[in-house]
Amino acid sequence: MSQRPAILVLKNLTKSFGKFNAVDGVDLDIADGEFFTIVGPSGSGKTTMIRMLAGMEPATSGDIILRGERINDVPANRRPTCMVFQSLALFPHRTVGENIEFPLKIRGVPPAARKEKALALLRQLRLPESYYGKSVLKCSGGERQRVALARALAFDPEILFFDEPLSAIDYKLRKTLEKELKDIHRETGKTFIYITHSLEEAMVMSDRIGVMRAGKLVQVGTPNEIYSAPRDKFVSEFMGDVNVIPVSLAGGKLISASFDRSFTPPGLPDGFASGHLVIRPEYMRFLDSPDDAENSLSGRLYNEYALGSRIQYQIRAGDHVFIVEKLRQQAPALDLDQSVLIGWDAKDSVLVRD
Ligand code: ATP
Repeated sequence: MSQRPAILVLKNLTKSFGKFNAVDGVDLDIADGEFFTIVGPSGSGKTTMIRMLAGMEPATSGDIILRGERINDVPANRRPTCMVFQSLALFPHRTVGENIEFPLKIRGVPPAARKEKALALLRQLRLPESYYGKSVLKCSGGERQRVALARALAFDPEILFFDEPLSAIDYKLRKTLEKELKDIHRETGKTFIYITHSLEEAMVMSDRIGVMRAGKLVQVGTPNEIYSAPRDKFVSEFMGDVNVIPVSLAGGKLISASFDRSFTPPGLPDGFASGHLVIRPEYMRFLDSPDDAENSLSGRLYNEYALGSRIQYQIRAGDHVFIVEKLRQQAPALDLDQSVLIGWDAKDSVLVRD
């Protein structure tokens, strides 16, 4: 993906509301054909960012450059981009076909050609052609989602923006639509820029993810890079359940005030003095002896939770709670309050600054 030319370049992009910077000096290159997701907690500036990119909100300063041309002052309807909203913004009293054909109609495409294109888009979005004459009010939530996407594609934009389109949809259907969206991205080859507060959703679909916090992009990388090498405590915790131990460096070892022992670091960032050791729950192991892993701790099983194909254990050690996850078929049977020894190898941990 990185060899492809950039379609969109952002330079020091800032949006201020009074003295408050909702988007604060963002630099970013998005490659042509990339599926790029901006993820961050509520209020981090995702919507403001995407509204500036789509031309719905003027930038306070900085540049938005599309294929080498600065487009800050180009109005939304003159940009080769299209937005798919959470609310979908479909015309409720029109048919599926009329909704999809709308962009073609305003461009003066003749009826027969419009219909042909609408039917092709229905096929691409895996909806039956018979839906052409169906009222959108009679479509399910997932079907409306597909109609909205078909209409966006009918604009033939170079970039599609998605503003949390799946957040109001129930879990099972959302999981299906995430995969479909990734397939449609692949089939169309267009650039998709997506915002969500769900990193899980971002992980499934994206080529790269940008994690936003307080108006800044704190880390940009592939899902794998963000998952296995989070840059700081915020990103690692945003990734979901994770073990985070506050540590400081002493004599080449990591010591934690919470535990009467030291840990082997996975490699020290330059000038590291203190920060957090991060260990994902699937890398934590139950040990028979402290020698079975480079780092170990003893604790007690507080509870366990069935998470579909995995079992998650909550282990209390000192004033700390650890999470261990095992695939169901490899999960040990443990009793509540049972003493357990848990551990990890240094290579399976990440050391982050605060
Ligand atoms: P959410 O996930 O809740 O939609 P978000 O990450 O999309 O959040 P934004 O909607 O971009 O965040 O808002 C970023 C910050 O900018 C918030 O603190 C918000 O209150 C503020 N903000 C957004 N629009 C305006 C506005 N028109 N006037 C003043 N402040 C605003």
